[in-house]
Amino acid sequence: MIPRTLFDADLDGFRDSVRRFLEQEATPHHAQWEKDGQVSRELWEKAGALGFLCPMLPEEYGGVGADFRYSAVIMEEVSRAGLSGIGWTLHSDIVAPYILNYGSEAQKKHYLPRLATGEMIGAIAMTEPGAGSDLQGVKSNAIKQGDHYVLNGSKTFITNGQMADLVIVVAKTDPKEGAKGTSLFLVEAAWEGFEKGQNLNKVGMKAQDTSELFFQDVRIPVTHLLGGREGQGFFQLMQELPAERLQVALTAVAAAEAAWGWTLDYVKDRKAFGKPVIAFQNTRFKMAEMKAEITAARVFTDRCLELHLERKLDIPTAAMLKQLTTDLQCKVMDECVQLHGGYGYMWEYPIARAWADSRVQRIYAGTNEIMKEIVARSF
Ligand SMILES: Cc1cc2nc3c(=O)[nH]c(=O)nc-3n(C[C@H](O)[C@H](O)[C@H](O)COP(=O)(O)OP(=O)(O)OC[C@H]3O[C@@H](n4cnc5c(N)ncnc54)[C@H](O)[C@@H]3O)c2cc1C
Repeated sequence: MIPRTLFDADLDGFRDSVRRFLEQEATPHHAQWEKDGQVSRELWEKAGALGFLCPMLPEEYGGVGADFRYSAVIMEEVSRAGLSGIGWTLHSDIVAPYILNYGSEAQKKHYLPRLATGEMIGAIAMTEPGAGSDLQGVKSNAIKQGDHYVLNGSKTFITNGQMADLVIVVAKTDPKEGAKGTSLFLVEAAWEGFEKGQNLNKVGMKAQDTSELFFQDVRIPVTHLLGGREGQGFFQLMQELPAERLQVALTAVAAAEAAWGWTLDYVKDRKAFGKPVIAFQNTRFKMAEMKAEITAARVFTDRCLELHLERKLDIPTAAMLKQLTTDLQCKVMDECVQLHGGYGYMWEYPIARAWADSRVQRIYAGTNEIMKEIVARSF
C-alpha cells in the first residue's frame, strides 16, 4: 500500500469529524432527499455552523483560512459516503473562489460570509440549451443601460439550481464577440425577472437539484460585474477550471475506492456453487486489476493536489487527470455492479446508486472528449 503523504494528524482529525457529521446528519436522510430532489437547507446551515462550507475563505470573510486539503477532505468524505445530493464542492470551492479571486471588496464582504454560513447557496450558470462544450456560443446577454445591465437568456443543467440564492451567470456583454465579449455576473435569485425552471429528472444524483434557469430583463447593478471590467469572463473561467477538474478527480477516486471496498465485503460474503464469490479466479483478478488502477489514480491525483497547493497545476495536466480518473471511476463502478450480480442493479444497494451517480463525471466540468482536446493542443 502506498501511504498518502499530504494529510497530517490535524487533517485526519478533521476527516473524522466530517465523516461523523455526514453519518449523523446526511446518510439517514439521503433516501428521502432523493425523493425530494434536493437536500435540506438545514444540512447546509449545520455544515456552515461547523465550518464545513468554504473553509478556505480568510477569516475576515467568514472562513477559517484553511488550505485546499481541508476542502479535499470534505469532498472525498461526501463522495465516499455516496452522498451525491450534497452540492458543497460547487458552492465552496468553485463559486466562492470566483468571488474571492475576482470580486470587489464590497462583493466579498457582502457575499462570502453568507456563503460560509450557508445563509446563501451558490451556483454557477454557464451551460445553455444550445451551448455546453462550446461556451463561446452562449446566447444569454447582459446589455448595459446606465447603471444597470439588463440580462436575458436561459441556462440549463445548473447544479444547486433550485436551492441557489446567488448565481454566477456567464453572459455576453458584447454579443458580436465570442470569448472577448463574455463576462461573469453575480446575480441574486430573488431579483425580478429571474425564474427557476424544472428540477431536472436525472439518471443518477437524485438528491442533487439540477435546474433550468430563466432570465427576463433582470436588472443587474453594474457593481455586480465580476472583475469590474467587461470581457474578462473567459479568462476567469480558464483560470478556475483546473481546480474544478482536480475536484472532480478527488471525488472520482474516493468513490472508486469506496466501491471497491463495498465490493470486497460483498464477494467475501456472497456464495455461489458452494463457495464465496471471492474464491473465483475471475473475481480475484478483477479486484486485483481495479486495486492497481485505483492506486495509480490515487497517486496521480495526490500529486496534482500537491501541485495545486503550490499553484502549479497546469490546464493540460488537470484535463488529463479529470479524464483518466472519471473514466476509471465509471469502469470500476461497472465491474463492481457486475460482481454484485442482480443485487448490484437494485437501487437500495449503494453500488447501484454509485454506478448511476458516476456516469455524469465524464460529462460535466468539460466532457472527457474536451479534456483530450485540451491535452492534445498542448503537445
Ligand atoms: C448533472 C449535471 C450537472 C451540471 N452542472 C452544471 C453547472 O452547475 N453549471 C453549468 O454551467 N453546467 C453544468 N452542467 C452542464 C455540463 O457542463 C455540460 O452538459 C457539458 O459541458 C457538456 O455540454 P452539452 O451537454 O451541451 O454537450 P455538447 O457540448 O452538446 O456535447 C455533446 C457531445 O459532443 C462532444 N463534443 C462537443 N464538442 C466536441 C469537440 N470539440 N470535440 C470532440 N467532441 C466534442 C461532447 O464531448 C459530447 O460527447 C451539468 C450537467 C449535468 C448533466
